[in-house]
Amino acid sequence: MLNDKTRYQTALCFDDVLLAPQYSDIESRSEISCATDLCSRIALDLPIISSPMDTITGYAMAASMTSAGGAGIIHRYNTIEVQAKAVRSAVVRGGSPVGAAIGVTGDYIDRTCALYDAGAKIVCVDIAHGHHALMRHALKVLRNTFGTTIHIMAGNVATLEGFNDLADWGADSIRVGIGGGSICSTRIQTGHGIPTLQSIIECSTTDRDATIIADGGIRNSGDIVKALAAGANAVILGSLLAGTTQAPGDLVYVNGLPYKEYRGMASLEAQIDWRGHTSSIEGVSSMVPSKGNVSEVLGQLRNGICSGFSYSGARSLSEFHAKANFIKQTSAGTVESSTHINRNL
Ligand code: IMP
Repeated sequence: MLNDKTRYQTALCFDDVLLAPQYSDIESRSEISCATDLCSRIALDLPIISSPMDTITGYAMAASMTSAGGAGIIHRYNTIEVQAKAVRSAVVRGGSPVGAAIGVTGDYIDRTCALYDAGAKIVCVDIAHGHHALMRHALKVLRNTFGTTIHIMAGNVATLEGFNDLADWGADSIRVGIGGGSICSTRIQTGHGIPTLQSIIECSTTDRDATIIADGGIRNSGDIVKALAAGANAVILGSLLAGTTQAPGDLVYVNGLPYKEYRGMASLEAQIDWRGHTSSIEGVSSMVPSKGNVSEVLGQLRNGICSGFSYSGARSLSEFHAKANFIKQTSAGTVESSTHINRNL
């Protein structure tokens, strides 16, 4: 039965909206910066972070992300020693800060100490349902132990209440998005979730200082631009970076063509590999075509973001946040918005 807390508002997805083009006096994309701040202590030249998943971010991805001006969060599905070694290898390579993921129970404090000693500047408290008592406890302990010597990213949350709580518990940046990931079956398995764009819009009304990191369901640079326009300071990517040379995993040939595995961390396959058994299965495993070097992918995404800023007449993220102007589109508009040439001739 519906209760008085039922949300009747329409929840908007990326495809439900477009950004209205606006007057621009920008003559070249070189005038545009897409630099961002994760907090007052950590800046990135590119607002893109690779997801802490075992088929996305090991040391090679983290190193390439940092040399491109973004950041990589090295996944936590490993021993402390292996993860710390991966951090050390990525930090040696130079560039922007390297991040690494931890959980909220067990060895998470020892792990953070080792990651910090290895040179990690961002620690990501990485759990599926971040608006949780265990998160509150972990954030308080981390903040008390490390003060402001390390940037604390935490998540995921989908609501303003969740965002504000994590900010109050000590998070510097918060991953926003539940159920939208390309490999995610949380909404099917549990009936819970909120479209990622809607969550960003809600969380952007916060009066806290923590920044929004949009996470899940981002399929192209247009979605990145919409997530930033809605109030995010950066995005986390999984599928867009999957299959690149730097993503962990070997190439698998299917009908002579090269693929790599990309899987949810709550998929049956990942759970069996990392804990030997399964609980609730909330993700799937898939094969994605090999895409070559991630720097090419990031270059294209950067071009798309800068072009997006230019259509709103913005030279920087702060200008873009102030100027961006969403419109809702109908389902007919969504069809018109995708390429629709008849290619069957
Ligand atoms: P993508 O960029 O749409 O592929 O989404 C990647 C995001 O999905 C990650 O950054 C996580 O937030 C989320 N995710 C990763 N594994 C799972 C899973 O097994 N179930 C649900 N969400 C997941």
